[in-house]
Amino acid sequence: MAEELNPFKIAQQQLDKAAKKLNLDPKVHEKLREPMRIHEVSIPVKMDNGEEKKFVGFRVQYNNARGPYKGGIRFHPDETLDTVKALAAWMTWKTAVVNIPLGGGKGGVICNTKEMSLGEIERLSRGYARALADKIGPHIDVPAPDVYTNPQIMAWIMDEYEKVTGKSCPAVITGKPLELGGSEGRGDATAQGVIYTIREAANHLGIDLKNARVVVQGYGNVGYFVAIKMKELGSKVIAVSDSRGGIYSEDGLDPEKVFEFKKKNKTVVGYPGSKEITNKELLELECDILVPAALENQITHENADGIKAKLVAEAANGPTTFEAGEILTRRKVFTIPHFLCNSGGVIVSYFEWIQNLYGYYWTREVVMERMDKIITKAFLDVLKMSLDEKVDMRTAAYMISIKRVADAIKLRGNFNQKNGDVII
Ligand code: GLU
Repeated sequence: MAEELNPFKIAQQQLDKAAKKLNLDPKVHEKLREPMRIHEVSIPVKMDNGEEKKFVGFRVQYNNARGPYKGGIRFHPDETLDTVKALAAWMTWKTAVVNIPLGGGKGGVICNTKEMSLGEIERLSRGYARALADKIGPHIDVPAPDVYTNPQIMAWIMDEYEKVTGKSCPAVITGKPLELGGSEGRGDATAQGVIYTIREAANHLGIDLKNARVVVQGYGNVGYFVAIKMKELGSKVIAVSDSRGGIYSEDGLDPEKVFEFKKKNKTVVGYPGSKEITNKELLELECDILVPAALENQITHENADGIKAKLVAEAANGPTTFEAGEILTRRKVFTIPHFLCNSGGVIVSYFEWIQNLYGYYWTREVVMERMDKIITKAFLDVLKMSLDEKVDMRTAAYMISIKRVADAIKLRGNFNQKNGDVII
């Protein structure tokens, strides 16, 4: 993998830039550059043809100074330890920037669920849970869904964990189906959080959402809901895409109908009345708001100069490389950094965890209202830091998060003590 595209190197470069601005103690800085724990497991799965296949799985526990490790599990053929390490680091900054009492972690399994039966996916999920059962737990590490995992997979993992431990324990994982202790609002929480941050950014930039032209890259759980919600706000969604390509319509697309089309045809490409466009064309379209909601490394030094949006709302994790981020800053393209923009998911996961621990459940209205409060405050804190310190939004968000994690490490007092004095 080219250095520019190694997500963990990118995460470290972003951390280094903000640490310098913060004058962070070099020892704390060093500690924050690497995960605390890395688990790699081999998962034997009986395939439908009777043969056994071994899958490789990871769980990276990046930092738990502020609370139990927290973060999703991805099932992806291109997963690597470095992508999981980067995503685990970003979870640490995500829970810190919105100030919820959790740390950061991430899981991944190298597999292609598109080529697997439901039974094979279930056996793989249960195998992953068994292999890591002594490493996760409601007060240790609480996983959740991410790319190509879903509430059903969370249910299997919870069930397997409960079988191993012999106890009812819904708080071991979040993003579960409602029937098994999931939270109201968790399904569209990430997209709703993206919308709240877009609302605040638009307000700051003077963009009228009723007339905004919006482009959404990716049509999974996040991209689809963002498109629906932007249309509800009166914006025109002029282009969307999925892994097979993009579609464009000057008059605006109907996100619900595009979804129906995708369900039938497995892709948005070919949607009646739209023009097919490439990924590069989509990212460089004339628009007000660009929402990358697919995978990492989509905005690179090759296309960052071509981006015409006034606002980039990073709904995906790590969609912008370090170099591309510097270009966007230079070109004054206002960017909501991903670990702030897409934090609605983990905020509602936090609510789900609380509800499970209490055994008392909230309405969707309560969930959304509380999420709005948390994410809006975080956005305004980051904006203030960015204006006060004259740094881009990403660096400002890092500065707030790093300081919170560093303070927690310092207060724990088991770090670098000499004669009883904490010398960091
Ligand atoms: N996978 C989501 C994320 O990247 C949610 C994580 C969680 O809910 O723990 O933020």
